[in-house]
Amino acid sequence: MLTLKNLSVSVESTEIISDISLSFNSGQVTVITGANGGGKSTLAAVMMGISGYETQGNILLDGNDITDWPVEKRAQAGIFLAYQYPIEVPGLSIKTFLSHAYRSCKGSALPLTELDKKIVDAFHKVGLPADYINRNLHEGFSGGQKKRLELVQMLVLEPRIIILDEIDSGLDAQGMAMLIGVITDYRHAFPGAIFIIITHHRALFEPLAADVQLVMHAGRFV
Ligand code: ADP
Ligand code: MG
Repeated sequence: MLTLKNLSVSVESTEIISDISLSFNSGQVTVITGANGGGKSTLAAVMMGISGYETQGNILLDGNDITDWPVEKRAQAGIFLAYQYPIEVPGLSIKTFLSHAYRSCKGSALPLTELDKKIVDAFHKVGLPADYINRNLHEGFSGGQKKRLELVQMLVLEPRIIILDEIDSGLDAQGMAMLIGVITDYRHAFPGAIFIIITHHRALFEPLAADVQLVMHAGRFV
């Protein structure tokens, strides 16, 4: 269970998130909607432990206070964030990135052939051409392809708390069906997984039958 206790977040003394208390329970899907600028991405970043925010209050993971944990430690604990705007990393191959990320998250490396197989499987599931595996991280990928590559990372790293920030933006109709299928299959494979899905689209959250639906406005849930 991931719990936010009286969480407030500011950037340069401007409050963006105001006193949120909330729990995300094991096995549940929570959907967060709300107009632009409401604080959804900021909340996602703070749950992941991205630096640069002034926070008050606490974040607890299974009762442990992780408020001061850096990103790497949270990733090792199984927290994963698919960014609204994935960053291109020229010179870093997808394979190299995933092998480092896997070793860092899981504590031990996967033999290369096994990792390759996992990546190829994931590419297949998200509908990316298999030969893209040799490309650099997000470099030159279209908007929808970047979102698919974020899902590849989820499938390879197998996190248990998955925050998807507008993962559906830029996806075509086929991509949307793929996304719903990937999330549904993942929940069957990992019944305890916690999904926190930020989206504007009914076409995503209705088929997923979210357990909790929240609307964020001006840094609060309304
Ligand atoms: P949403 O994802 O709901 O559209 P965001 O969390 O991206 O909203 O942004 C919430 C508000 O916080 C916006 O007004 C945005 O401009 C502001 N904000 C977020 N990050 C920063 C930052 N690093 N510096 C200044 N303002 C920021
Ligand atoms: Mg956002």
